Amino acid sequence: MGATLDLSHKNSGTVPPASGVATPADAPASKINLMGLTREGMAQALRDFGLPEKQIRMRVGQLWNAIYHHGLSDFAEMTTLSKEARAKLAEAFVIARPEIVVEQKSTDGTRKWLLRLPSDKPGLPGPEVEAVYIPEEGRGTLCVSSQVGCTLTCTFCHTGTQKLVRNLTAGEIIGQIMIARDALGEWPHSGRNSSDRLLTNIVMMGMGEPLYNFDNVRDALDIVSDGEGLSLSKRRITLSTSGVVPEIVRAGEEIGSMLAISLHAVNDETRNKLVPLNKKYPIAELLEACRNYPGLSNARRITFEYVMLKGVNDSLADAKELVRLLKGIPAKINLIPFNPWPGTDYECSDWATIEKFADVVNRAGYASPVRTPRGRDIMAACGQLKSDTVKARASDRFKTEKAEASETI
Ligand code: SAH
Ligand code: SF4
Repeated sequence: MGATLDLSHKNSGTVPPASGVATPADAPASKINLMGLTREGMAQALRDFGLPEKQIRMRVGQLWNAIYHHGLSDFAEMTTLSKEARAKLAEAFVIARPEIVVEQKSTDGTRKWLLRLPSDKPGLPGPEVEAVYIPEEGRGTLCVSSQVGCTLTCTFCHTGTQKLVRNLTAGEIIGQIMIARDALGEWPHSGRNSSDRLLTNIVMMGMGEPLYNFDNVRDALDIVSDGEGLSLSKRRITLSTSGVVPEIVRAGEEIGSMLAISLHAVNDETRNKLVPLNKKYPIAELLEACRNYPGLSNARRITFEYVMLKGVNDSLADAKELVRLLKGIPAKINLIPFNPWPGTDYECSDWATIEKFADVVNRAGYASPVRTPRGRDIMAACGQLKSDTVKARASDRFKTEKAEASETI
């Protein structure tokens, strides 16, 4: 407690940013963000800063606990460190979350945050992503983004119409969870005990394809599940992929979270249209990779997501084929009503059709498969993330342009 930070080996005042490490929009670029560094990464950053080897383990432990267990972002509040150590660390490091641009709360309790990330282009605002919190009976799930935009072009997904801007760093992925815990008042100093947590589950189902940002997603989820940090078990974390086959087994080995597959069709012809990545990794290969997913058992099933699109993939024959295809794989099926977005040609299947489809699936032994849309009033549903903001901005711009035009007339 309070041991002094020995800085006698300290090199020149500031340190250059480690590659891939985010600094907040308003922080000097020379400061390193500790959030999102692995324990080894943090140890190396302290070593580079000049901390003697014998202190590193202890300092990493103290910082880790302060950042992830207590949710602190200001060194001045870290009373386990000496005053001198706090001041020195603050010269070189920051603990930064993404900037909150807007927070919205739905009438059903769903919350959505529009977050701005640090800009790579001087003078221009940084890119934006969204995170969504969905409270349910006895649990609360945070839907986290892994990329700004997406390289894949699934035809029913609005993110798919937005070009990939960049991958999120591990710190930016974790930052979404930190922001949700801040808002929910879930740190020890807020008095809530850990047994009645509001944020109990994480789904990597926001913007982007997590397996195309593998290393950062892996590092972030390792930190999230670290028992001395956020301490959320990997069994409560689900990674959703559109089917990047070569990375699926690797995800099982290196990430070890629960897996969700965006299947959405039962034959290659339809899936090629909905999820063009299918042309590269067709259904048979995808399901083979699922069968080989490490640790699979009846207690650890793969979730197959299936978006209900009117007249495209919602026939009874499709439902029967779905059940046939998944035979032998410990599986859950999640039927997702399609969330329309401006400009899409797809429509959501009728409710009666969804129910008939669900009956077939239920009779085959898969329970409660329809995912109810949440947070509709704030457009917080799958595949709608960010799009409303872009749209709102466009309409704001239109209003401004109209106002300016009328002034000049
Ligand atoms: N890229 C990953 C994770 C993000 S998408 C993936 O594709 O799995 C999360 C889920 O939302 C996926 O199952 C995706 O297919 C689904 N989705 C995308 N757009 C949707 C929409 N408009 N309506 C309903 N679900 C949608
Ligand atoms: Fe990307 Fe997933 Fe949307 Fe497909 S569904 S475009 S993989 S975010």
